[in-house]
Amino acid sequence: MILAEALAWARSLIPAAEARLLLGHLLGRNGAWLEAHRDDPLPAAVAASFEALVARRGAGEPVAYLLGQREFYGRDFTVTPDVLIPRPETELLVDLALAKVREVGQISAPRILDLGTGSGCIAVTLALECARAAVTAVDASPAALAVARDNGARLGAKLEFVASSWFVELAGRRFDLIVSNPPYVAAGDRHLGEGDLRFEPLSALASGADGLDDIRHIAAAAPAHLAPGGWLLLEHGYDQAEAVAAILAQSGFVEIEQHRDLAGVIRVSGGAVGAAGNEFNTCSA
Ligand code: GLN
Repeated sequence: MILAEALAWARSLIPAAEARLLLGHLLGRNGAWLEAHRDDPLPAAVAASFEALVARRGAGEPVAYLLGQREFYGRDFTVTPDVLIPRPETELLVDLALAKVREVGQISAPRILDLGTGSGCIAVTLALECARAAVTAVDASPAALAVARDNGARLGAKLEFVASSWFVELAGRRFDLIVSNPPYVAAGDRHLGEGDLRFEPLSALASGADGLDDIRHIAAAAPAHLAPGGWLLLEHGYDQAEAVAAILAQSGFVEIEQHRDLAGVIRVSGGAVGAAGNEFNTCSA
């Protein structure tokens, strides 16, 4: 079998672009190379691996898990079924976090916390884009944390990893900026049964009846872990902007900001820790 035949066969099961990605991955080549070598014979072992990958993709497995990687903010991150697949809209959260770090420029080494780091795409990117920041990444899943650690090491980022369910292992610690892309899908949402989400860790996606359980928890607990003037930035669902703004206000956050992603959807909300919240927490600490 030649390459062109293998690709033609795959196209009957999956989109042509995905077929090229999978075959290119197995051969360690890009699309231009495949095009120039369409008439080359395909080694039997590669053909067998390709058939298996195409079958798995045909059955719905996400391309990112089959390739074992996904690009985020210009870098390739290793992904496994233990972690959520990085999404392009999450780059907005990174951009906003970097802007906040520049605003609080008087802090020489801003302390940044990423809650529920998963693949580490947010924390590792922040550590690489802002070398003076001291980044801490936490995740409750040891398997996810191993993936994040691996990404940090491979990409040459210096940051701290902590196995923790939200703030549990961070008693007494404060940060200048807390970011999170927490689970925010409603437990009964039909999207959980569709597309890539079927194969992603449910613990990284679903969060109670309205999808807001973890956001409520994080917003309530964050003031005790923010330095005076510190900020919390959260990614949330396309229809949760109003609810998240209310939760932030109830939790004592001020200067509440909401930001649209490239699709025009309000996707990230945040606020500064209120003076009251901070005093209260200092007193109660
Ligand atoms: N943005 C994801 C989706 O496709 C959800 C990610 C999350 O819950 N943090 O719905």
